[in-house]
Amino acid sequence: MQKGTINIQTENIFPIIKKFLYSDHDIFLREIVSNAVDATQKLKTLASLGKFKGELGDLTIHIEVDKKNKTIKVIDRGIGMTGEEVGKYINEIAFSSAEEFVKKYKGKSEDDKNALIGHFGLGFYSSFMVSEKVEILTKTYKKGGSTKAVKWECDGSPNYTLTETDKTDRGTEIILHIADDSLDFLEEFKILELLKKYSRFLPVPIQFGTEKISEKTGKKDKDGNDEYKEVEKPRIINNTKPTWTQKPADLTDEDYKNFYRELYPMNFDDPLFHIHLNVDYPFNLTGILYFPKVKKNIEVQRDKIQLYSNQVFVTDSVEGIVPDFLTLLHGVLDSPDIPLNVSRSYLQSDSNVKKISNHIMKKVADKLEELFKNNREDYEKKWDDIKVFIIYGMISEEKFYDRAKKIFLFKNTDGKYFTFEEYKKHIEKTQTDKDKKLVYLYTNDEKEQHAFIESAKGKSYDVLIMDGVLDNHLVNTLEQKLENSSFSRVDADIIDKLIKKEDEQPSKLTDKDKEKLKPVFEKQGENGKYAIVFESLSEKDQPVMITQPEFMRRMKDMSKLGGGMDYMGTMPDSYNLVVNTNHPVISTILNEKDEKRQDELTNQLTDLAKLSQNLLKGKEMTDFIKRSIDLIGK
Ligand code: ADP
Repeated sequence: MQKGTINIQTENIFPIIKKFLYSDHDIFLREIVSNAVDATQKLKTLASLGKFKGELGDLTIHIEVDKKNKTIKVIDRGIGMTGEEVGKYINEIAFSSAEEFVKKYKGKSEDDKNALIGHFGLGFYSSFMVSEKVEILTKTYKKGGSTKAVKWECDGSPNYTLTETDKTDRGTEIILHIADDSLDFLEEFKILELLKKYSRFLPVPIQFGTEKISEKTGKKDKDGNDEYKEVEKPRIINNTKPTWTQKPADLTDEDYKNFYRELYPMNFDDPLFHIHLNVDYPFNLTGILYFPKVKKNIEVQRDKIQLYSNQVFVTDSVEGIVPDFLTLLHGVLDSPDIPLNVSRSYLQSDSNVKKISNHIMKKVADKLEELFKNNREDYEKKWDDIKVFIIYGMISEEKFYDRAKKIFLFKNTDGKYFTFEEYKKHIEKTQTDKDKKLVYLYTNDEKEQHAFIESAKGKSYDVLIMDGVLDNHLVNTLEQKLENSSFSRVDADIIDKLIKKEDEQPSKLTDKDKEKLKPVFEKQGENGKYAIVFESLSEKDQPVMITQPEFMRRMKDMSKLGGGMDYMGTMPDSYNLVVNTNHPVISTILNEKDEKRQDELTNQLTDLAKLSQNLLKGKEMTDFIKRSIDLIGK
């Protein structure tokens, strides 16, 4: 028997491992199982290189929980270790890397500790987070010499013992004697949950307990139907060949859909399409990203992409690794090249991570371009579902904007789709104003703004539908990007003002007349809320209209989306009451000597304008109906 002290130079790290590391003691199982997988993979590699000539046999890793004896065992049939190797790998290398990790960890602020993603780095010694004693029984695959099986034992003090033992089977058995404060981990459901979380796609089969499966007996019942019986089978936790590790050429669309269902059994919609990532230089990255179906108004989920490192689950929060707008996608990413024991702030400055992020963005853009080019019709059908991602990308990532500008689609009120280029051609002749500026008209509510849309169409103008949550931001971005262009919501002003074609026509009313009329309009009902604006329009235009000026409205919309300036959000909507000085009815009102009659007409006109904007409510509405009936009677 050999006794020793693991490392006498430094302070005892065991209490720190036990007490202070991670809020999440869960990860011990991931570390131990990953080691078992590594040891198995190494043996397979040696066999394939002809350096191991024995029988590989069944390589399944077994997890056994013994509640009575308070142990969890992880048993593999991998390469195993000699006594010397245990001394080197466990006592020296693993210990010093655990020690280094603890040092790094201790220096971190509380926030950074929580932000340490993945927590890789502690390895084998993480088992002491939940154990009062750990044993390793191991027998190397090597033959001859000092290849006897050994048992290493350590009780969480820096002292260990190493003895020969009579284990006959190749491989390693890790026995965790669970500490009294961690007895939760002896519950079957708890271990099952952890295995399902971290080990679901590990490349070596992992067995834990058994499960009942109904199987054909081979016999038929009296109606000729297959007979089934329940059989108890070893429960294999993982899918050892998940779809992302396979070659795209070997996979069908249905395979990808099935994998989506495997990842999100609770999500009943099929994804719209997928992107299979597969790079090995200059970094290693595999994975599948899915564009999910997003429903309007449903909060998009951001924690749907799972990050793996060599098929070991790390986290489902990929912020900082993929561009923000792509966190809306679903799927898996697997890369051993993402540093996992660092904080998020460090992560974003890592050059590999930057490259990975750019690569993913490029692949997404490639895919969208391919869909657009290959089948425009189908792309248009999908547009409403994918535009959220694309718009989010365009307003947040300069590089993505440059790619997306060729495949972005406008949709107009006739349900037709246009690229930027196509739309420019479509409206160039009609919607260029007298200053040679191209004016894009849009609506965010076809029903409410119906009257304005109609008057725009009356002038042969085109109106875009921009009713998405991000469209306000998009409009701002586009005004900066599209040269010599501006956007106006159709109800922002009367149509001749939105697209000014020529200098104003002369007004029939003098300034004096307007001064006389202003108070007449102001005193009606709640008109005080409106700014009275006189415009000299055509006789054919409406006498009175209500508009919502673009600038103020946009500021308000932006503040609602959290663009700073919170006080804007609490301000009332601002409207203009536009009086057409050239309409004959306005002259009639001006010249009316009977004040009561003048009020009645003014009121009726402004109410009609409000009515068309859905602004006539409550008492104003009741009064309007009564007045209308009276007027009919006259
Ligand atoms: P890491 O896995 O990151 O190298 P660990 O602390 O988890 O660090 O493990 C230390 C070393 O101990 C491993 O590199 C390996 O050489 C050895 N080891 C751990 N578990 C096993 C096992 N189940 N079979 C064979 N060797 C193992």
